[in-house]
Amino acid sequence: MGYMRGEKIMYDVIIIGKGPAGISASLYTARAGLKTLVIGGYSDLSKGHSIDNYYGFDSGISGEELIIRGEKQVKRFGTDIIGDMVIALEYEDNGFYKVKTKNSVYDAKAVLLATGSNKKKIKINNIQKFEGKGVHYCTTCDGYFYRGKKVALLGYNEYALNELEDMKQFTPYVSILTNGMEPVVDFGEIEIITKKIKSLEGDEYLDKVVYEDGQYDEFDGIFVAYGTASSADFARKLGVIINGNIIGVDEDQKTNIQGLFAAGDCSSSIKQVATAVGQGCVAGMKIIEYVRNLGR
Ligand SMILES: Cc1cc2nc3c(=O)[nH]c(=O)nc-3n(C[C@H](O)[C@H](O)[C@H](O)COP(=O)(O)OP(=O)(O)OC[C@H]3O[C@@H](n4cnc5c(N)ncnc54)[C@H](O)[C@@H]3O)c2cc1C
Repeated sequence: MGYMRGEKIMYDVIIIGKGPAGISASLYTARAGLKTLVIGGYSDLSKGHSIDNYYGFDSGISGEELIIRGEKQVKRFGTDIIGDMVIALEYEDNGFYKVKTKNSVYDAKAVLLATGSNKKKIKINNIQKFEGKGVHYCTTCDGYFYRGKKVALLGYNEYALNELEDMKQFTPYVSILTNGMEPVVDFGEIEIITKKIKSLEGDEYLDKVVYEDGQYDEFDGIFVAYGTASSADFARKLGVIINGNIIGVDEDQKTNIQGLFAAGDCSSSIKQVATAVGQGCVAGMKIIEYVRNLGR
């Protein structure tokens, strides 16, 4: 059902995440003839030595083996699988989605978020204390409040670079804090501080960042774009309802945004292979219905 838009393929659905939820959803969409692309990387399930509570494996199965078999299974039905990291998801005026990865940009009529549970990516003293009071996770949502102010962006890779471009429309006074990481992208003409951060300090609101060497810098705000972007990060930017870091979905795994679905650990308080597979199935079937109803 996919078609070419200029040189580019318009996918019927792009699935972000190749764990049990994403792969199960693609089984349904690909077998129904939807042009399906799955983008993802390593799943934590691979660390599972023996999965003993999943239906049908009487002697258990390693997480790694389950992942390998799942991918093999969907490739049989024509699913494209790409190992890449999604750094941004945009909803366009035409009602379709643009998915930006480290290496490319893809278009889709519908998107499934299936990036697993939100891992705490960075541990810095007091970071939680200042959430919403100087510490933010979404430049699109909160960057506006820092117009012309001095801001730090916590990150070191393509995801942070994408957020930097967004932040620059609000203020030119942005520094990059890598918290000890070497930057892996070219941030251009911008201050980059690679020192390890000891803590964030302030009274009610964030005041300064204190480094391990005892020195400090004052900032009005810090935006966190560290490591890999999660489904919750994408969802926040699009105005999706989130409870904590769990994406709000209805019984069809639909979010409150048209054409955007979520399944698996990112949208569930029960984090198991069986639930991820079940939700992936529901999402896949409802995406088929959604794309067919679009009629374009
Ligand atoms: C050590 C361990 C043991 C476990 N044992 C069991 C068990 O015995 N039984 C059981 O039922 N469950 C077990 N679990 C839980 C199980 O692994 C999860 O519930 C299940 O993997 C969730 O599936 P998912 O598809 O939602 O997410 P995941 O399997 O976490 O997959 C997420 C996918 O999203 C990708 N991704 C994330 N961010 C991005 C991005 N920005 N761009 C592109 N891709 C991205 C990841 O690379 C990955 O491919 C275990 C988990 C662990 C860590």
